[in-house]
Amino acid sequence: PVVTRFAPSPTGYLHIGGGRTALFNWLYARGRGGKFLLRIEDTDRERSTPEATAAILRGLTWLGLDWDGEPISQFARRDRHAEVAHQMLARGTAYKCFSTKEEIDAFRAEAEARGTYALFQSPWRDADPATHPDAPFAIRMKAPRDGETVIDDQVQGRVVIKNETLDDMIVLRSDATPTYMLAVVVDDHDMGVTHVIRGDDHLVNAARQQMIYDAMGWAIPVWAHIPLIHGPDGKKLSKRHGALGVEEYQAMGYPAAGMRNYLTRLGWAHGDAEFFTSEQAKQWFDLKGIGRAPARLDFKKLENLCGQHIAAGADAALLSELQAYLAASGQPALTNAQSALMLKGMSSLKDRAKTFPELLEKARYITVSRPISRDEAAEKSLDPVSRGILKSLTPQLRNASWTKDDLEAILTGAAAENGIGFGKLAAPLRAALAGRTVSPSVYDMMLVIGQDETIARLEDAAA
Ligand code: GLU
Repeated sequence: PVVTRFAPSPTGYLHIGGGRTALFNWLYARGRGGKFLLRIEDTDRERSTPEATAAILRGLTWLGLDWDGEPISQFARRDRHAEVAHQMLARGTAYKCFSTKEEIDAFRAEAEARGTYALFQSPWRDADPATHPDAPFAIRMKAPRDGETVIDDQVQGRVVIKNETLDDMIVLRSDATPTYMLAVVVDDHDMGVTHVIRGDDHLVNAARQQMIYDAMGWAIPVWAHIPLIHGPDGKKLSKRHGALGVEEYQAMGYPAAGMRNYLTRLGWAHGDAEFFTSEQAKQWFDLKGIGRAPARLDFKKLENLCGQHIAAGADAALLSELQAYLAASGQPALTNAQSALMLKGMSSLKDRAKTFPELLEKARYITVSRPISRDEAAEKSLDPVSRGILKSLTPQLRNASWTKDDLEAILTGAAAENGIGFGKLAAPLRAALAGRTVSPSVYDMMLVIGQDETIARLEDAAA
């Protein structure tokens, strides 16, 4: 059975790169009936905060990436990490190093003076335990000094690292705290992780981690190191390219399904498919489709996909996501009456809206209340002639049966009677109903807000 994991360090918000890594792991597991686990790599006590953990969980939840079981704290497992370091000692694949910081610094200074960069070579590597002092020690890996370590990576291919470039890294510090490298391997092993899908900034770590797997006689997981995301200009992603936090996209009002679709396509392809549902993505996602070149952010594509997902969304689901957006962005909640009208009008509101703010702008005719404030264009369209026409409409509207056909007959009849095109009549109607000259169709608006409210707004505008 497939087991994947996402292992963020809780030092800030959920970055879109992290969101994508989590998504790939989630898709891979969910598409194969496997498990997707979450591990919070909180061993750096200075930089790890509970607020950051909470923000990461919120970001994942918004993206719809559910994890199996409780999130695992890496810090809480430190005794287990230490235990494994001591097992390595017992197996003879690690050794106690009594070198002091001063000795190690002196070794480096000497190497530098010789003009060579030498990795620290501990004199304790092959020392007889009988000669060990009674002093604090670190536990170091007995790394092979020659030969090479081969990483068989599903994305990067066969990556060869010369062992001479890897030192006898410390796995347990003299204060008995585990190093990051040890913690990751022990946790992945204990969690039964079968596939490690993560950023390719961890590729060299994989070589070091493989040494630990070998030292313990554990099976090495399948590696897939994915290229990092770049900005639209092909440069390393940074703040100047735009929002980097997953939650910022939520606050900007992008629908989660669109963001998920977009992130899925960021560095992974399935033929020329662009728009797909989560179900399709789970079915199609594989490691072969991950590109070797860094994917570039493309905000046009994001908006385009978001528009398609809003248009394809189920009305009730869109309404609840819209409500969540309002809450997340600190805007007032919809009243029950407004929610009911939103649902009624959703089929036209969701057409051609790429974000929730755009959808809300279209829904202005629902969220405003009388007297309706109008923008300049709307005010201008309400000239005396138009006001007169609006006024003349109200008796007919009062007798209308309030079906689209009926309303159409009344409005086109009025336009013809006044010798104007329907567009000329629509502008003041939109101004009266929405306070804007751009809005959903006048029929949609009238049908949604109903007879009394329509007539009241026309009377206000005509006055
Ligand atoms: N905690 C590491 C990071 O946030 C991830 C380690 C891993 O995936 O192995 O970059």
